[in-house]
Amino acid sequence: MHSTIYRDNGQLLMEKVSLQSIADKFGTPCYVYSKTALELNYHAYVNALKSHPHLVCYAVKSNSNIAVLQSLAKLGCGFDIVSIGELERVLIAGGNPSKIVFSGLGKTADEMSRALDVGIHCFNVESESELRLLNKTAEEKGLKAPISIRVNPDVNAKTHPYISTGLKEDKFGIDINQALDVYQDAASMSNINIVGLDCHIGSQIVEKSPFVDTMKRLLELADTLNEQGITLNHVDIGGGLGVRYQNESIQSVDQYMRAILPLLEGRSETLIVEPGRSMTANAGVLLTEVLYVKVTEHKNFAVVDAAMNDMLRPSLYQAWMDVQNVETNVNQQEKTYDVVGPVCESGDFLAKSRQLTVKEGDCLCLFSAGAYGFVMSSNYNSRPRVAEIMVNEDSAFVIRQRETLEELIKGEHLLPEQ
Ligand SMILES: *Cc1c(COP(=O)(O)O)cnc(C)c1O
Repeated sequence: MHSTIYRDNGQLLMEKVSLQSIADKFGTPCYVYSKTALELNYHAYVNALKSHPHLVCYAVKSNSNIAVLQSLAKLGCGFDIVSIGELERVLIAGGNPSKIVFSGLGKTADEMSRALDVGIHCFNVESESELRLLNKTAEEKGLKAPISIRVNPDVNAKTHPYISTGLKEDKFGIDINQALDVYQDAASMSNINIVGLDCHIGSQIVEKSPFVDTMKRLLELADTLNEQGITLNHVDIGGGLGVRYQNESIQSVDQYMRAILPLLEGRSETLIVEPGRSMTANAGVLLTEVLYVKVTEHKNFAVVDAAMNDMLRPSLYQAWMDVQNVETNVNQQEKTYDVVGPVCESGDFLAKSRQLTVKEGDCLCLFSAGAYGFVMSSNYNSRPRVAEIMVNEDSAFVIRQRETLEELIKGEHLLPEQ
């Protein structure tokens, strides 16, 4: 649990605000983020990397609310984007275009064009076809596109298969053994400017060794490129640092960085990191009300007002997320519950077999929900998307209104009467 979220006199607080008061004031379900936690998480990276030139590019896809981006942009944070939508969000939030790296294996010409216009730091290129399209797009504008090649280092990140991205059989990047050829191609293109080398091996990685192995492979390639007259300004190790959801023994950001920084000693390349989850996960929670307590012969269910459409991680990855009552119930009997939503799928659950003391009307807090939470939400079952709240010290701000039923069908049309 993050130090900005704690229990005092039986009440869960975020910074100086009680989570029950947020549920009362703004309704449930809602996501609640701590601005201080975001800032602390960013500073953890900056402090850990201070001995070497670096750029922290927050992976926008983990939580793309513009107030979250604004809070980080204010501190000088860079951004890792994967779409034009994320680019526009960063710009609206006041992000510096020259600190943006553009990842993703399916960039369109329109997306490249906009990113070239605003002058991003680097395109992380994932295929030769993409490289050719980028060269052509830049040529039409009379510009040079700054690039790195995203290599696939064939390192096992030892994480859930859906979020492992650095194995030979994954769809991402260019096989590190073929990267030299692609770099030589790139060097011969008139509107491409090689600036770096990139990779991203997966997410929720709880060991240091995959990062160390990856960095070694990247630097070997950087040396080979150097011998060929291709010099790099930066090496980008991607994101993927794990966070504590349950009782995983997690390294601190500092420990992860201390494992890879010695490899860069005496080298001039700037280190770029693209953290997402480790910046936002433990800075946010999801609040949800218990609608019904349903006791059956086999199981007890706490039916809550949040569902898989609001928080997909448990259904999609069998992710374990901590659930606690926002107010400690001293008079209630503890029982084992499955915490489930109202969506018509048995895969719709937030937590299984948890010891809880709940009664109908209670507010539950789902922890570590700041990353890959709201951003993965949908309108499945025609459920309006929930509100997002940002807490800062003793204040709470709505940073995204709850969707209305009108907004739910916005853009839909009935057929004309025949
Ligand atoms: C998702 C992603 C990240 C962030 O990963 P986390 O595990 O959230 O830190 C960074 N870079 C790229 C290219 C990504 O796709």
